[in-house]
Amino acid sequence: LAFPEPLERLIRALERFPGVGPRSAERMALHVLRSDPEEVADLAVALRDARMQTARCETCGNVTLRSPCAICSDAERDRSCVCVVEGPREVAKMEDAKVHSGLYHVLMEGFAPREGAAPEGRALQALRRRVESGEVREVVLATAPDREGEGAALLVCEALEGTPAVISRLARGVPVGTRLEYLHGEILAEAFRERRVWSARDPRAEG
Ligand SMILES: [Zn+2]
Repeated sequence: LAFPEPLERLIRALERFPGVGPRSAERMALHVLRSDPEEVADLAVALRDARMQTARCETCGNVTLRSPCAICSDAERDRSCVCVVEGPREVAKMEDAKVHSGLYHVLMEGFAPREGAAPEGRALQALRRRVESGEVREVVLATAPDREGEGAALLVCEALEGTPAVISRLARGVPVGTRLEYLHGEILAEAFRERRVWSARDPRAEG
């Protein structure tokens, strides 16, 4: 071992975070050693609380204090329209823009889709089950218009093959490569209102 065992153990644990390689893990671990012991204790508690005191909504997969989440439990929302987003940030963005009165489906585990995480099979299966339960008439794809987002959109289409739901996609007002979270609320609202029926088989259909 290059370092005493507890430090090695910390480095191994940090390496498991997305986007953290051995070098950064080592830098972070050495930073912990230089930190105030109270700050380190606070960090340990924050890690545990974030894990233990939150859950993923059993219906939509969003991060919540209690499952099902407030959006899924809201009887006023339109249960026939489900908007598929990459992560919790996008849900927050859509909610801020007040464009969607329906429900959501959150694809990504790890919430770092830019780092190459693929949508989990589990999230796709859960979406298919929701659609098959019969309430959902439209699935709106609100994944980013970049490589990962397009890939996710295709996987959703595949997962929903043979179900009666109409699949639509945000209008092309969204600049290529822009993540939803960076969009101005009004642009997002317009892209949502102008959404088009979308088919993975014929991408030209989105016009
Ligand atoms: Zn939910």
